[in-house]
Amino acid sequence: MLDIPAPKALPENEPVLSYAPGTPERAKLKETLGAMARERPDIPHVVGGKELREGAPFDVKAPHDHALVLGTAHDGGKAVAEKAIAASLAAAPGWASTTFDERARIFLRAADLLAGPWRARLNAATMLGQSKTAHQAEIDAACELVDFLRFNVAFASRLTEQPLSVPGTLNNLELRPLEGFVLAVTPFNFTAIAGNLPSVCALMGNVVVWKPAESQALAAYHTMKLFEAAGVPPGVINVVHGHGAPIADSCLASRDLAGIHFTGSTTVFQALWRGVGERIASYRTYPRIVGETGGKDFVFAHPSSDVDALAVALVRGAYEFQGQKCSAASRAYVPRSLWPKVRDRMVGHIEAITMGDVTDFRNFMGAVIDERAWTRLAGWRDRLKADAKANVVTDKGWSREKGWFAGPTLVEVLDPSHPVLHEELFGPILAVHVYDDGKVEETLELVDRTSPYALTGAVFGEDRIAVAHAVKRLRQAAGNLYVNDKPTGAVVGQQPFGGARASGTNDKAGSAYNLLRWASPRTLKETLVPPTSVPYPFMGAE
Ligand code: NAD
Repeated sequence: MLDIPAPKALPENEPVLSYAPGTPERAKLKETLGAMARERPDIPHVVGGKELREGAPFDVKAPHDHALVLGTAHDGGKAVAEKAIAASLAAAPGWASTTFDERARIFLRAADLLAGPWRARLNAATMLGQSKTAHQAEIDAACELVDFLRFNVAFASRLTEQPLSVPGTLNNLELRPLEGFVLAVTPFNFTAIAGNLPSVCALMGNVVVWKPAESQALAAYHTMKLFEAAGVPPGVINVVHGHGAPIADSCLASRDLAGIHFTGSTTVFQALWRGVGERIASYRTYPRIVGETGGKDFVFAHPSSDVDALAVALVRGAYEFQGQKCSAASRAYVPRSLWPKVRDRMVGHIEAITMGDVTDFRNFMGAVIDERAWTRLAGWRDRLKADAKANVVTDKGWSREKGWFAGPTLVEVLDPSHPVLHEELFGPILAVHVYDDGKVEETLELVDRTSPYALTGAVFGEDRIAVAHAVKRLRQAAGNLYVNDKPTGAVVGQQPFGGARASGTNDKAGSAYNLLRWASPRTLKETLVPPTSVPYPFMGAE
């Protein structure tokens, strides 16, 4: 009954290309960047395999260059969402009747296309649309998405465990798709996540309505083209662009909503869950709800920490991709004995950071995603500068004239309950609380209790006993905990990713835990020689 083949060996992670001067990948990427900046596609919704351009148009712009319009997308709203739901349901019976092997071949082909001829295209779209450097795009749009596509197939092929069959009885477990459609709502910050959320559901036999973030529309457009080129049939993944609320409302109002695969902010996730809760009696089946959301990721430095390693981890962890990773280091606890050295080294590294147009490969940072993000972050910076309880150590490079540039900002706060230590800022602002060396226990308690989130964290220290203690003490404080490393950069197959508490349902993207959420197992028992009389033996006369 099980259509999943015998376990396959795990693939290797897609190698990260260097893009160093003189390499062929650099030349190809530069050429693609130039062409893509001129293309300006009229980005369609994709419904039942057809391109629709309905709804108010909106410009998709480069965050680092206000003058660069990359394309136009359309706000689909309820009307297009309803068409997408209908198209997905029409495609569902055909797709559900395919074997796992048939589906796996499509997504493995997508992985190979992306690793090869499509690599520059998705990287360029991610650089231009989301203001990622070549390296940040490569580890996201190329390597991580290739890894998701390949590892999901390998992990799914390992879900082969069958129940016991005893003499006279054959038992089987079959992994069915969910009954209905899955709504995938994806964030702006990772092209890999945006591609993975719909495709992993489709791999498991489900049909999908995919709502990408407005500010990720360009890379989402190319990702959908990739899926089509790989052979995903019409109606299996339907893309609806535009504002989230009306599109999600239509999906939540459908009795056929079978699941939500979400990555984004905690507030939006909670609104979606609430919406499902309010309509719970109306659904054909209980919708599966999987969400990876915000973080307030910590670095705890023990007094035995290596100062150089700590300073580098803080700078890379807090400022790469402008601090817009859900896993970005955004609060650090540093012992008083080390702080002057750590601070000076950090300031030195920050001074050397280059920021600007990501198509200039000398830059380490680009711009934050849009005006809303810049204004919110600038508000934080202004408040911190005016706050007597906060000491802004450095905040170089903020500007809004050419693009939305938020500079790497380091702030020291005395009050351990300061909002900058518990609210998600989602930008390049790192808050440091300096603690007395004798107060390790109290500080671990602060790390654990200060924020509602529990996504990622890092523990630094050379004292193995102290590190082991911190790892135990912070067991529930992060779904991904790092020792002597920055809290960002999880690799599919190596560090399954996700967090609990306010950070999400911790269903670990790119792992078997996640795949099982998109399958509804059916148990089949066959009795080989069925009984032919009703009474049981114990009922016989003495
Ligand atoms: P967001 O919540 O603003 O948007 C995410 C998606 O939800 C977008 O497609 C958006 O259009 C849609 N949306 C917005 N309002 C909606 C509504 N009312 N109803 C339905 N959909 C709606 O998040 P973002 O700014 O795109 O991404 C940043 C957030 O994502 C951060 O909080 C970050 O921590 C989180 N994130 C988490 C992970 C993780 O794995 N935990 C990974 C990446 C990003």
